[in-house]
Amino acid sequence: MEREGRVRKKWEEDGTFQRSIANREGRETYVFYEGPPTANGLPHAGHALGRTIKDFVARYKTMSGYQVLRKAGWDTHGLPVELEVEKLLNIRGKDQIEEYGVENFIQKCKESVFTYENEWKQFTKALGYWVDMDDPYVTLTNDYIESVWNILSTIHEKGYLYKGHRVVPYCPHCETSLSSHEVAQGYKDVSDLSVTAKFRLMDKTNEYFLGWTTTPWTLPGNVALAVNPKMNYVRVKQGTEIYILAESLVTTVLQEDYEILEVVAGKDLIGLSYEPPFDYVAVKNGHKVLGADFVTDSSGTGIVHLNPAHGEDDYKVIHDNNFDYVNVVDSKGRYKEMVSLLAGKFVKDCDVDIIKMLSQKNRLFAKQKYEHSYPHCWRCDSPLLYYAMEGWFIKTTAVKEAMQANNQEVEWFPSHMKDGRFGNFLNNMVDWNIGRNRYWGTPLNVWVCKTCGKEKAPSSIKELRKLSAAEVPADLELHKPYVDKVQLACSCGRRMERTSEVIDVWFDSGSMPFAQYHYPFEKKDMFNKQFPADVVIEGVDQTRGWFYSLLAVSTLYTGQSPYKRVLSLGHILDEDGQKMSKSKGNALNPTELIQEFGADALRWALLADSSPWNNKRFSKKTVSQAKSKVIDTLLNVYTFYTMYAEIDQFDPSRDVGGVQTTLDRWIVSRLNTVVKEVVQSLDAYDITRGARSITVFIDELSNWYVRRSRQRFWSSGMTDDKRSAFSTLYEVLTKLSQLMAPYTPFVSEDIYTNLVNDSVHVSDYPKPEESLIDIQLENDMNAVLEIIELTRSARNITGIKTKQPLANLAVIPTDAILSNLHHYSPIIKEEVNVKGLEFRKDFRDLLQLHLKLNFAVAGPKLGKSLGEVKNILEKLDDQLKARFVEGGELQLTLQSGEPVNLTKEDILLEKTAKDGYALGEGTNFIILLETTVTKELKEEGLVREFIRAVQSYRKELNLPVDLRVVLYIQTDSWLQEVLVKFAPLVERNLIIKAVHFEHKPMMRSFQVEEYEVKLYIQS
Ligand SMILES: [Zn+2]
Ligand SMILES: [Zn+2]
Repeated sequence: MEREGRVRKKWEEDGTFQRSIANREGRETYVFYEGPPTANGLPHAGHALGRTIKDFVARYKTMSGYQVLRKAGWDTHGLPVELEVEKLLNIRGKDQIEEYGVENFIQKCKESVFTYENEWKQFTKALGYWVDMDDPYVTLTNDYIESVWNILSTIHEKGYLYKGHRVVPYCPHCETSLSSHEVAQGYKDVSDLSVTAKFRLMDKTNEYFLGWTTTPWTLPGNVALAVNPKMNYVRVKQGTEIYILAESLVTTVLQEDYEILEVVAGKDLIGLSYEPPFDYVAVKNGHKVLGADFVTDSSGTGIVHLNPAHGEDDYKVIHDNNFDYVNVVDSKGRYKEMVSLLAGKFVKDCDVDIIKMLSQKNRLFAKQKYEHSYPHCWRCDSPLLYYAMEGWFIKTTAVKEAMQANNQEVEWFPSHMKDGRFGNFLNNMVDWNIGRNRYWGTPLNVWVCKTCGKEKAPSSIKELRKLSAAEVPADLELHKPYVDKVQLACSCGRRMERTSEVIDVWFDSGSMPFAQYHYPFEKKDMFNKQFPADVVIEGVDQTRGWFYSLLAVSTLYTGQSPYKRVLSLGHILDEDGQKMSKSKGNALNPTELIQEFGADALRWALLADSSPWNNKRFSKKTVSQAKSKVIDTLLNVYTFYTMYAEIDQFDPSRDVGGVQTTLDRWIVSRLNTVVKEVVQSLDAYDITRGARSITVFIDELSNWYVRRSRQRFWSSGMTDDKRSAFSTLYEVLTKLSQLMAPYTPFVSEDIYTNLVNDSVHVSDYPKPEESLIDIQLENDMNAVLEIIELTRSARNITGIKTKQPLANLAVIPTDAILSNLHHYSPIIKEEVNVKGLEFRKDFRDLLQLHLKLNFAVAGPKLGKSLGEVKNILEKLDDQLKARFVEGGELQLTLQSGEPVNLTKEDILLEKTAKDGYALGEGTNFIILLETTVTKELKEEGLVREFIRAVQSYRKELNLPVDLRVVLYIQTDSWLQEVLVKFAPLVERNLIIKAVHFEHKPMMRSFQVEEYEVKLYIQS
């Protein structure tokens, strides 16, 4: 893409991006926040969509008069980086990291963060995304972290940052817990086993509780069984054994051949002791039946197995009853030593082993496969475990109502996000699990005294120094392990140590409105100007990610929403509607698409094809069509203009005005209508509708205005007509390139710069000039185009080429308003190549009408006379047909003398053209084209074919378009006669000095219909 490279180079040399911002100094700001990508992975098609729309909005708002700063950002912390480094070092898990050394590990993380920075920069530039990558915010810097600390300190001070015990989603591979919004990103459908196990009642040999669980691997850690105190249970005999289960589930579970011995109230089961199926753990308090409201009879047996380490409900009820806490699973998700037979195995892989062991001990009652959606780690893809942990939480639930109220003020695209996906997520929010037991991240700035339990959360480096028990190094890096070496002096006289966690990376990115300017330590003015954002734009998955964390952090910190508007983009799918992914091999590489078709084509395809809010099917074909239909068509028009402007030395500042033709007034009217439509669409963020208006216009410009105006540019000298043609096309191309600049910044820049000699991106977006809009003219021209289209397809059907002139075209408007088109007769006649054109009210002399029964309606009405009526209709005379067409009613008499009355609903009216005519039917017109080719018409057709042959030969010879040549012709004497007869037509269409019918050496032979013609062109 030579053109795009050239434009890019010019932008860099001229500092055009910087100029587009400086240009708007002092004007109203339009605030845009860049969601930070991570630079340790390559950009994909989704990034292309996001970055295209971000750039689009920023360019449009800039051209509309706003100042739009665009600070880039990089998300640099967190597990993904650590996992990359683990892979690189070929180590796995925390033990090996400790062994490798935390400081070395952190250094490696820092190095790996920008692995693909160069690729990102190249991609961003190639796509034409203007964003300030020279001064980005980077989440790993001390300044950024200090701002985050300030926010966390404020939250701590409000009492919203607390240490709690929770059963949390936990990734055994990453060895860290995940926040609920992280979990929400990784659900997958899996098949698992549920189990009904037998728990023998203490002191009974053959009586069992039937306990149910969907996680068989948790059975070795069983501590209790839960029943619902309000439900009824039964003792049932089946075979030689007695079971206890919910009364309402007996048939479902036992099916048949059972005998109910006794009905027992759930509350009366509470306190009964049982023997657990496995004896790996001894408990002081436990292995008894508890009452719990969450037990239902909607599935299972109405009795639930409880393990305090892996279920939120389980943990709570066991804790409330003072039963023992046990955990037989280690931090890597493996059974501990005590589960001797399975020790060291990953628990999720042991369901089948557990079931086998139950069966061997006669403790298995039933097993069942079931499909469900199970959370997986969004980074490493491991199945998550629910795991009881101690950790740090932010009490987001305390500001839930404020967040909901803030959300109500936000304008969402698409609008249903507000109360739908995002609103629901807010309604169901839980406290933010903020701590991560990992290494590479913003260290949680909470210091705790082990002796007296006091906590301190320093709000700045300065405060940290003040509170420190010892000198803090001047160049302290706010990362592990360096900050861990700082101890604070506690008021009790002992030392406080930092809690070891780093924080959730989503808190980093959620803090960017503040931290990008090192707020509140620096640049307060800048912050005030750039808060809140007018817009944030990311993929729909960020409803649980960045959109959420931005709102949470800002509401906690300032009480305000950080954004006024959110554009939530759909996913890019492949042609078959599948999500693109590297593993499926259906992912499109945006960099390759840019190389093949250009960034303009890629951007246009992304923006024009379908609404960005919905998931979009996307393929190479979409991009190649955008190139051929839009970009190349525009370029053809532009090339045509520049070619003739050069020949005629057209100077837009000098050669203004001229005498406008109807066509000129029409294209100017259309231009202003399109400007109006596009501005309205874009102000409503309807980028796709704007693109569609432009697409229609480019087609009209190229295939109608320019094509119809060609000859005007061929005449020699600068006539008034020619001047008007030039001025009009100049005006149209200038405004069109401005309209398109946010969509296709490269080709727009190229065209505009050549026309106006300045960058299109520092110009003001066009405004419609209402006085130049002529709706009547636009409607008329639309009608003309419809007539031409109808006539062309009539020609196609009969197989008569447009080059062959025909005698007559009859046009019958179906709508009276459109009958006044006589004015356009010359254009229509020339376009469809007919000698005569008549607008008529009546067409019956040219048509045959066929009246056919509409069986669906008339069938039931006519019953057995259907066949007779059908026959009568087939033989109906023209007069009666005409009467039906006029009156919409037809009275017939059957042989039996019975009258039949038929209405419009009963009859389908079909028309066919009479012999020698072809019919075209459209919404507003019916046309009838006379198809008889007379000798005279045939001759003229041949001459036109001849002209076409000469024109293509000229093109082949690459002769300057305005060069007058001498034409030598050698052909059959009859054709020669015809050519002489039609000499004026030949001269009008070919730029020639003279014609000679004589032989020349090196003549080139052409076929004109069935005749051979030899040509020689002397320039
Ligand atoms: Zn993981
Ligand atoms: Zn203390």
